[in-house]
Amino acid sequence: MGLVGPTLMAHGTREQQQRHLTPLLRGDEVWCQLFSEPGAGSDLASLATRAIRDGDEWIVNGQKVWTSSAQHADFGILLTRTDPDAAKHGGITYFIVDMRTPGIEVRPLVQAQGVAHFNEVFLSDVRIPAANMVGDENGGWTVARTTMRNESAMISGGGQATTFATVLSTARRCGRTDDPIVRQELAKVWGNEQILRYLSMRTQTAVMTGRRELAVHGSLLKNFFTRSFTHRGTLGVHLEGAEGMLDADAEGAGFWQYQCINQFAPRIGGGTEEVHRNNLAEQVLGLPREPTSDHDVPWSQSRRA
Ligand SMILES: Cc1cc2nc3c(=O)[nH]c(=O)nc-3n(C[C@H](O)[C@H](O)[C@H](O)COP(=O)(O)OP(=O)(O)OC[C@H]3O[C@@H](n4cnc5c(N)ncnc54)[C@H](O)[C@@H]3O)c2cc1C
Repeated sequence: MGLVGPTLMAHGTREQQQRHLTPLLRGDEVWCQLFSEPGAGSDLASLATRAIRDGDEWIVNGQKVWTSSAQHADFGILLTRTDPDAAKHGGITYFIVDMRTPGIEVRPLVQAQGVAHFNEVFLSDVRIPAANMVGDENGGWTVARTTMRNESAMISGGGQATTFATVLSTARRCGRTDDPIVRQELAKVWGNEQILRYLSMRTQTAVMTGRRELAVHGSLLKNFFTRSFTHRGTLGVHLEGAEGMLDADAEGAGFWQYQCINQFAPRIGGGTEEVHRNNLAEQVLGLPREPTSDHDVPWSQSRRA
């Protein structure tokens, strides 16, 4: 809902909107985001999954990785390379793909916590109807930017397993609430929770009233969320003291141990902290852009990971 909905509302055809928005809102159909590749993460515009036109269809070959929930998804939003001779941002086309199309293989990846949140997705001669293109041929980067802007806001506004209340209850259970340093950390958790709430309300008000000056930059929201999420996860384990090393045997069946390891998911997913700091430096502080050597070079001649 946070990624596909706003993108189709801004760039989708009337048919795409009519077909997909209602089942998406109802939760009848699940989507995944097929953007990252083994050689294209932070430098997403280097992506190499190839789409070649064949009449009313496109034939897609390539590999995606870190695709959250692909194993459950009905549809995916897919970025492909359609003009290798254009500069890297200029030769990308954005598609809707039915995840049950022949040629799509989804392989779950198991993380440190023992769950498979994301997947590798292999695409071999996958046929996609031309009507599933979102935006213009080779105009996919503009569409992808809409998705990514909304992704930052979605991650920072999402439901949170850890809250001030969960941290406080652990501090009480472990008899740590008289410790002045712990009290200071608890105050920080509470303060961060309020700041995030008000920043999110400002963004929602900006969307609802059209007062763009109220909007908070998505990178700021995302990095603030990530920092407070990491702080809560590590504090929870710290409060448990020696029990914090027990994982699943700890009280709460390893709740804080899971949250502590899980801090890396939002720190990397949806763009890393470093990349969001670059965005803030350039777009908010007006610092010079990062130097690049391949901005105007045809993708086929650029150096890639
Ligand atoms: C939990 C989770 C869920 C995800 N879900 C999805 C999904 O559903 N769909 C999808 O397409 N992708 C998904 N991703 C992938 C995610 O978008 C990428 O992992 C992320 O963009 C970073 O790319 P990378 O892993 O290739 O790291 P790299 O880009 O190789 O980065 C490696 C390191 O270099 C740093 N770095 C890179 N470039 C710069 C720079 N210019 N300036 C400063 N530092 C830099 C990074 O910050 C990082 O520390 C997910 C990732 C995670 C962790």
